[in-house]
Amino acid sequence: MTTAGSGNREPLICKNETMRYRPLGKTGLNVSALSFGCMRLADNVPLNTKLISRAIDLGINYFETTRYYLGGTCQHRTAPGLVGKTAGVIVSGKDGIDANKTGDLFRKEMEQQLQILGLSYFKFYQVGWFSWDKMPFLLRRGGVLDALRRAQDEGLVHHVGFTGHDAPGNFIKCIETGLFDCITVPYSLINRSYEPTIKRAGELGVGVVAMCPVGGGVLSGGTEKIKQALGMDMPSAAMALRFVLSNPNISTACSGMNTTEQLDENVKTVQALDPARDGKFDEMCAGLDRLRDTLGDRICTACRYCQPCPQGVDIPRYMELYRTWKCFGLKDHVRGNLKDIKPENSLDRCNECGLCEDKCPTHLSVRETLKELKGMGQALV
Ligand code: SF4
Ligand code: SF4
Repeated sequence: MTTAGSGNREPLICKNETMRYRPLGKTGLNVSALSFGCMRLADNVPLNTKLISRAIDLGINYFETTRYYLGGTCQHRTAPGLVGKTAGVIVSGKDGIDANKTGDLFRKEMEQQLQILGLSYFKFYQVGWFSWDKMPFLLRRGGVLDALRRAQDEGLVHHVGFTGHDAPGNFIKCIETGLFDCITVPYSLINRSYEPTIKRAGELGVGVVAMCPVGGGVLSGGTEKIKQALGMDMPSAAMALRFVLSNPNISTACSGMNTTEQLDENVKTVQALDPARDGKFDEMCAGLDRLRDTLGDRICTACRYCQPCPQGVDIPRYMELYRTWKCFGLKDHVRGNLKDIKPENSLDRCNECGLCEDKCPTHLSVRETLKELKGMGQALV
């Protein structure tokens, strides 16, 4: 059995007619290389039932859910497709934590999610929207970790993971606690910020679920630069999945799907992925690094040391959009995201105080970047 490492090592352990499987860290579970994020299911019971059921038939064995997606309906939309088909299937639930979340409340939520899904236990449960500064809420007496360990003793939960968007370095600290079997972090060819975290997880035998592996359709336009960088000529979603799954430390690429066409295409990509021929992770990274180098000295590592901005500007988000635009030319994605940022986090609030540049380890020219991005955004609207 091949486990995590680095370079161009064979990362896939086995396959059946339509799917490939990898170890989920040291859990003993083998997870399908393509997994199903249920956060994009439509409000359409027959379609969802068919989709989930077909995904299982095609060999997908991991479904990521929480009651908190889709206005509280995600698990209701998922459950009908699971009926009678849960043997060998991993369904995760997820709950967030904060200062008010007691162990009892966490347990109650877990039981509710099980009930909605029609399951008697979770093979895998996640602490959602997690960050290093929430660790005290997890660890306090009678808190969430106690509830999780009790649930594990009772067989209600088998393995524990976390998911979130904290700084990559903070997530390394989280996994080094040894408290988690698995992590779920964003990872795609246009967002490689968590690569150091993913590598560390691999070293420690912690499973890694890549969320947004195809960037939620982001890559539908402007992919010529990426094709050249990767030396591939194929549809953008296929290219994106190939990149993510070529990283030997990734256990599974969790894609949010809501049509049978997406499902079939993604399954086809995974099935066609020949690790001996395509698993050239280091070469792909080198190609993407060359694109990243076009940013010169404006390479943001998403460390978030510049936060909080006194004016509320979401600096790492803007730096990511800048990179996405400059490196990959993904204008539609940038335009959509600029519109989506809340006014209280907007770059319009920047008063050029320069505090962020003092706090940034590499003193990135944040102010110039924001100005340039604003100019580009205005040109696009
Ligand atoms: S320069 Fe702008 S973005 Fe940076 S800390 Fe000051 S107000 Fe925030
Ligand atoms: S701008 Fe600098 S401090 Fe802020 S996230 Fe990027 S690298 Fe870190």
